[in-house]
This record gives sequence, structure tokens and C-alpha cells, in this order.
Amino acid sequence: MPSNDSDKHAAPPLPEPLRVPVADSHTHLDMQSGTVEEALTKAASVGVTTVVQVGCDLKGSRWAAETAAAYEAVHATVALHPNEAPRIVHGDPDGWSRQGARQPGGQAALDDALAEIDRLAALEQVKGVGETGLDYFRTGPEGKEAQERSFRAHIEIAKRHGKALVIHDREAHADVLRVLKEEGAPERTVFHCYSGDAEMAEICASAGYFMSFAGNVTFKNAQNLRDAVAVAPLELLLVETDAPFLTPVPYRGRPNAPYLVPLTVRAMAEVRGADEDTLAAALAANTARAFGY
Ligand SMILES: [Zn+2]
Ligand SMILES: [Zn+2]
Repeated sequence: MPSNDSDKHAAPPLPEPLRVPVADSHTHLDMQSGTVEEALTKAASVGVTTVVQVGCDLKGSRWAAETAAAYEAVHATVALHPNEAPRIVHGDPDGWSRQGARQPGGQAALDDALAEIDRLAALEQVKGVGETGLDYFRTGPEGKEAQERSFRAHIEIAKRHGKALVIHDREAHADVLRVLKEEGAPERTVFHCYSGDAEMAEICASAGYFMSFAGNVTFKNAQNLRDAVAVAPLELLLVETDAPFLTPVPYRGRPNAPYLVPLTVRAMAEVRGADEDTLAAALAANTARAFGY
């Protein structure tokens, strides 16, 4: 059955192309439909010429590294997602249904997995370590210890290899900032899918942390994000899709992909009262600087 534009599950149409090309600073091509070539071609056709492919577990991190090695336009980051670390330590049958019944592996299993992330982080095409951080939305109190231990280990790996650190912070702002301070943040640290308010943006700005905004900046209830976009220094702003998640308005709920970045760039430009081309040029330069490519 042919899908059409009003189909709630159909891919949104191509937005008007950006005149100045940008990068999608955070995407998950391995969770999107279609091939890597298709995603890159579609994105490039609207001025999204570079993507950062983010790993969330060992399999995804290996895939990110392989894909970045194969495609000029793709850079990789590798990590165990904050919700992944407690699963490795304590086991979580639901989270691992794709791999069948999995026994809890304890601290030793987490150490083994971190050693593999460390190995991947050394690769040339791997430009960052993440997404790592803390997620108090999906992981309950019983997982906090494993999560924080994993976060600290990722910070150490990023610093030792001189790679960017990509932070996932969900309902854990204070603890994420605390751990970064205690460990000493890497020179280049990116808050992906920035979810704080204007006040936290000032804190990130003074620490020199990059703030990457996703499609949820367009959501009606996300005034805190727009306030943060307005006050963040231009040189610390990035844009991302976190696709397939967080599809920008007016396509909320439909599948997201890197080619939809222009919608978020335009929303950010409007909030800042900035010229779209000037903002796009800054976003492109900032992403290259953040990830060192
Ligand atoms: Zn995330
Ligand atoms: Zn992500």
C-alpha cells in the first residue's frame, strides 16, 4: 500500500535544503530503516553532509567504527549507554531479548566490555567516547552505582585517547556535572540532546562544554530548551537528530533521520534571531572542532 504524506508512520518529506552544509552531531543509523548509503545521500541532498554515528553497546560500537571506516561522511563514537552498564552487571532479560536469556555478568563483565570500548576508542575513525553519562529516567536506584562507575571509566578512556566525550544526561543534571568535575572533563565534552535550562547552559558555557540540540527543541512544551538555545554561546552550539528518535515538529512521532536536521537548524535560528546561514556555518565548524575531524 503506498504511503502518503498524511500517513503517521511515513518518512517525512525532504525539507528545503540548507545553503550552508552542517553535520548531524548524533545519530543512530543502525536503528533507522534503509541503508547507510540511502541515509547519507538523502541527508547530503539537503545540506547535511556529515554524520556522527553513536554506539550504545559493544555490537553498536563495533558497527559504528566499521561504518566510519567505510564512509568518508561518517565519524564514530563508541560506548556502553548509561542504561547498558547496569544491564551488563545485573542482567535484564527484557533489555536483552535480542540476544536470548542473558545471565548477569557482575563487575567483571562490565570491565571486559569497557576494555573493548577502550580498544575501539583508539581507532582513528573513532572521534569520540559516548554516549555515556547518567540516566535516572530509565535506570532505577539499583542501577545507579554501575552507571556511575561506567561513566567514570568512559571519561578516563576519552581523556587517555584524546577523544571527545559525548554525554547522555537524562534527569541527572546535577550528578552529571558533579562527576565531570570530580573526574576532570576531557578537553572536548558534548552534552548530546541537551536537556537542561538556561541556567545550566550558563554552567556548561563557563566550563566550555558543547551543547547539542535535537528535534525536541521544536516541541511546544520545551521552552526550557529554547531558553538554553538563546543564551548558549554561538561557538558551543551543535545540532543533532538522535534519529530515529525526537523527530522535530511538524513531524513529531514519525521516523527521524539525518535529513531532517534543517528543521531543527531553522528553529534554533529563529529562537536566536540569527541568520540561518551564519548559524549553519557556526554549527558545522563547532562540530568539526568538538570531534576533531
Ligand atoms: Zn542519549
Ligand atoms: Zn543517542
